[in-house]
Parts: sequence; C-alpha cells; structure tokens
Amino acid sequence: MQINKLHQLTIHEAHELLKQRKVSSVELTESALKRIAQTEKKVHACVTITEDIALKEAKEADNRIASGNIAPLTGIPTLIKDVICTKGLRTTCGSKMLENFIPPYDAKVIEKLKAQKAVIIGKTNMDEFAMGSSTEHSAFFPTYNPWDLSRVPGGSSGGSAVAVATDEAICALGSDTGGSIRQPAGFCNVVGLKPTYGRVSRFGLVAFASSLDQIGPLTKDVTDCALVMNAIAGYDPRDSTSVPYPTPDYTEQLIPELKGLRIGVPKEYFVEGMQNEVRTALELAIGKLGELGAEIDWEASLPYTKYALAAYYILAPSEASANLARYDGVKYGFREQNANNVIETTEKTRQFGFGSEVKRRIMLGTYALSAGYYEAYYLKAQKVRTLIKQEFDQAFKKYDALVTPTSPTVAFKLGEKLEDPMQMYLSDVCTLPINIAGVPAISIPTGFADNLPIGMQIIGKPFNEQALLRIAFAYEQATDWHKRKPPL
Ligand code: GLN
Repeated sequence: MQINKLHQLTIHEAHELLKQRKVSSVELTESALKRIAQTEKKVHACVTITEDIALKEAKEADNRIASGNIAPLTGIPTLIKDVICTKGLRTTCGSKMLENFIPPYDAKVIEKLKAQKAVIIGKTNMDEFAMGSSTEHSAFFPTYNPWDLSRVPGGSSGGSAVAVATDEAICALGSDTGGSIRQPAGFCNVVGLKPTYGRVSRFGLVAFASSLDQIGPLTKDVTDCALVMNAIAGYDPRDSTSVPYPTPDYTEQLIPELKGLRIGVPKEYFVEGMQNEVRTALELAIGKLGELGAEIDWEASLPYTKYALAAYYILAPSEASANLARYDGVKYGFREQNANNVIETTEKTRQFGFGSEVKRRIMLGTYALSAGYYEAYYLKAQKVRTLIKQEFDQAFKKYDALVTPTSPTVAFKLGEKLEDPMQMYLSDVCTLPINIAGVPAISIPTGFADNLPIGMQIIGKPFNEQALLRIAFAYEQATDWHKRKPPL
C-alpha cells in the first residue's frame, strides 16, 4: 500500500498492516489528516479537526502496538458525530446553543474507543440536535454529498457518512433516532447500522428523543461495521435503558452464504412516489439474496407501517421538547447577554440559540403534551407504537430478517426540501418505523441511479445484529457496490 493512499484502507486492512508493523498509526493518521485537508473544502463534513491531539494519540497507539498489545481499533483514525460527548473537546450538536460547549466527560462509546486506543481525529457536522435528514439544519454550514456536490448527504449524521465515503476517516460514529445513520449511509454509499435499542450505551449522547436514540457505526464495509460494534456494544449501568445481555462477537457469523435464512419483503415499504431505479435496484438485490441461499417471501406485509411517520412526529418532538428544556441559558451553552431579567434571558437565549427546525419540534412536542391534547396525541401515538412493535414481533416469528429500501429516492438537491418540512420528513418513511419498534437495521450499498448511491435496509430481530451482519456480508461478498468511490 502506498503511503499516500493509507486513508483508503478499511479497519481490518489497516489492522493487519499495523499488526505486521508495516505501517504506523502516525502514518495512518497523517494520511487521513492530509485527505481531510484536500476534501474538506468541497464537502464540509467536519466541525472540528483535532490534528495535534490526534497525532499524540496515534503515537500512544504505536507505543501500545510496539508492546504487543493491539486491539482491532488500535491506531485507527476515527471521526465522531458532534452529538457524542468528548471530554475536553468541543461538542456542538450542530447548534449555536452549544457552539462553545466543552464536555467534562466522555460518552461511554468514547471511553470504549479510547480503551482500544482508536485515534479520534475530529467531530462531524450534523443537523442541529440531530433533527433533520439533510445536514442542512446545521447551525454552521451544510455538508455536501461527494457523489454530486449539488446534493445533500442525508442526515442527520451527514458529516460522518461523507467522511467515511471520502476516506477522511477509516470509520465514524453516528446516531440514529429515525434514520440518521442509515439514510445518510444510503445516500453516500457506506455501511451504517442502527443497533437494537439498549444495545449501545447512550451515556454521553446528547439526548434528542431518548426512547428512540441509538449510537452506531458508519463504515466502508460490513466487516468493519462488526468490528466497531464489538468495540461499542454492551451493558452500561449509567444508561438505565441499556440491556444487560452478553455481547457476542459480531464477526462470528460473517459467512458468504444465506442457507436456512427466511427473508420477508414487506410491500408497505415500496411506497408511492418511490423512485423507479430504487425499486429496480432493490428487486435485483433481493434476487441476489435468494441466489445466496435465502428463502424470500415477496408478499410480507406490515400494515401498520403507514402510521409510523405520524406517530414518530408526535413521539420524537414530545421527547425533544422535554429534553431541550435544559438549554435555558443558565446551566451551560449559549446565553444571550442582552436581557433584563432571568425570564427574558431564557427567552432570548432560546430565541437566538435554536434554529428554526429545532423550534418547530419544540412547539410540536409542547403542543402534543399539553393538557387536553395529551390523550389525543401523545397517548395515542404510544398506542400506535405498541401496535407497530407487535407487528414486527409477529413478522419475526416468520422471518429472520426483512429487507426494504433505505430511502424511497436517491440523495436530493440542496435546498429542495428545506422549505417543506413534510417532504423532508417523508425521506425517513422507511427508516423510522425501525426506531419506533426498537429493532436493529443496517443500510448497505446496493446500486446506483445516475451515479448516485442506493441503499438497502435489512431489519432484524432485537439483539440479533449478527443475522443482519451475516446477510449484509454475504451480499457484499457477491457484489462490489461498496468499493465504488465518489469522484472527488
Ligand atoms: N430525520 C429524522 C428527524 O428529523 C430522524 C433524525 C435522526 O434519526 N436523528 O427526526
């Protein structure tokens, strides 16, 4: 491997070279930083780049490797979505409210990465407080899709997806409340996994909608995805919704065939308004899963899917309105100085500190939770949530996994949906039912329409990410979509 191409490696490739002492973590890190210097001008994936700290961490990783103690992520240049707390390192959530916020502690996932001596090289751009599907709602700047710079990368983890697609980092972490890992992964041609709710600790993840949020990997291939899961999954007593199940080795079931697996294709996910090329790509991909040995049922059905979007846009804003009450200009973050008393301080802090999408969510949520409306909206949405969850439970009695498109279309143009929140929300129609049910799902590269990537979503049983990874791996071995790189 040429030294100036090291950033193109996957985790498992880089790991082999590190282990054999053919490259050093400092070389890998320098290569990633150089790549960032080349591409950032075009894509704007990062909010913060930590060159000096990164090189110091890389040296420490090299020392650890020299002592014979190498873990799968040791020395690997990694980027982190800016909604995950990093001790001593600015964590903005893409918001003016937290523009200068320096967390006093690391999120659990960061502790876990650091325990392996992964090298954190910076923080990635996102929609403000993870509310959005295009990364245009960042308070700082939009991120651009490397496949076509006039298009969005998806969101809200757009920065992380773009960073992995452009080789700015070898892997990245994102968060997913209604699709924010999978949808940008699909738009950018990378692998993105939303784990089962409770599988990865949310300790130190800045809360958007606490009953839906999960942290997960964005990677260049499925093996890397399993390796990052091995690093970040597991019980954490500091997250009360973390589940004390043993953590498997996620690489264990990566085998190139699918015999004995039953896969359902729920027709409700092939929605009206879906782009034809997306449908065709999915049909071909599902055919491939059949060739690999899976038994396909093209007639699966999850009829409650049609209520998921409406329920999500009651539940998520309700939780957000409660979670975002903490930004009052008193405890931390931005404070508007030009105010006469404490009430005015809070009002103006929130007026100037939050962007319009965040305000929209707070208003929606506050309304849905207010006296007299609570039962009509919030309680009803909770009941719909239970029905959707039960429907998935039923489906998983018949199938080991369900396969759908990740999004109904390829990446859309910047500005195209900005003035029409409903259109923006619809781009998550295939991903958000998964968060409502709390089940895991992965998006993997599955084709192109006019040189724009298409993603396939594979949905699995709770706490059985291994089955998803197996299906994704077998498909990846049989295709080479994931190897295509954007023309930057
Ligand atoms: N786009 C969805 C929303 O705006 C999902 C966001 C996410 O998963 N964080 O709420």
